[in-house]
Amino acid sequence: MLDKEGREITYLRISVTDLCNLRCKYCIPEEGVNKKCHSDILTFEEIEKVVRASAELGINKIRLTGGEPLVRKGIVDLVNKISSIAGIKEVVMTTNGTLLKQLGKALKEAGLKRVNISLDTLKEDRYKNITRDGKISDVLEGLEAAKEAGLNPIKLNVVLIKGFNDDEIEDFVNLTIDKEIEVRFIELMPIGINGLKFHEKFLSSKTVLQKIPNLIPIVSKDEFSTAKYYKLEGAKGKIGLINPISHNFCSKCNRFRLTSDGKIKPCLHSNREIDIKSALREDKDIIPILAKAIRVKPKEHHINEEDYKPIDREMYQIGG
Ligand code: SAM
Repeated sequence: MLDKEGREITYLRISVTDLCNLRCKYCIPEEGVNKKCHSDILTFEEIEKVVRASAELGINKIRLTGGEPLVRKGIVDLVNKISSIAGIKEVVMTTNGTLLKQLGKALKEAGLKRVNISLDTLKEDRYKNITRDGKISDVLEGLEAAKEAGLNPIKLNVVLIKGFNDDEIEDFVNLTIDKEIEVRFIELMPIGINGLKFHEKFLSSKTVLQKIPNLIPIVSKDEFSTAKYYKLEGAKGKIGLINPISHNFCSKCNRFRLTSDGKIKPCLHSNREIDIKSALREDKDIIPILAKAIRVKPKEHHINEEDYKPIDREMYQIGG
């Protein structure tokens, strides 16, 4: 379906939970996440209904995210159900990877196509610090398990954070020399708790090109890709730069979001939300609600404007 700007919206990102087994300092408050009442969270049957209705409106790609999608019980069954819905061509997931060792194979068998694994450092002590006690070995083992299960190509999401991982850019780039992975450097966005301190920590993705000037630009096959791609000569993998701040991709944005508490978000950086949970619970037709959410998608975000205020939700309550 086309939105009012004429963009074809084909991609729905679904947060299945706010809960996470890590507490990354720029994403989750130190005291952790308040567990929502069970009835506030969409059931898997309700999520399935939203996917079915979305498919009727032309959505063909679903990303499951969170919080951490793999901490929600029954996630493999959800993947199984939604990946067999007519019109849905791919179901993919963004995860911190820590539970992929246990779940990777079952997810692949259930129909998951690929995973994006979030990893902001390759150093054990830094990982423990930024995630407030996470174990990097869990992620690295998860990554191997995902590769073996065939959840390829694995994409590694690295949020660039000034003073934290700018000295590891080369190490991340070098991972692509003999591994068929995509390392994607993502600019930190002004959201939630980090929003106000954002300018202290922001690092433009241009830094990657300054540090590694021999990266060769390559053309992406996916015209809606939010990343600009590069590679080292002869490398098996590639590098993606995702620049929501320094070069916004609003004019190509083909996505909208569903939060775990049943709100549709047409744009990540706007407070506008459209409730779908009540209609689901009253057994009403949800297609008009989805169609409206798509239609009203804003032309662009305003995060680069001086008086921009970060949105009220935190990233873990929307799902990156
Ligand atoms: N738990 C999963 C994970 O770690 O991938 C999925 C949810 S997490 C919120 C999704 C992604 O959002 C992660 O890659 C995380 O690093 C990223 N993220 C969180 N806050 C961010 C921010 N302010 N700017 C850019 N990316 C952010």
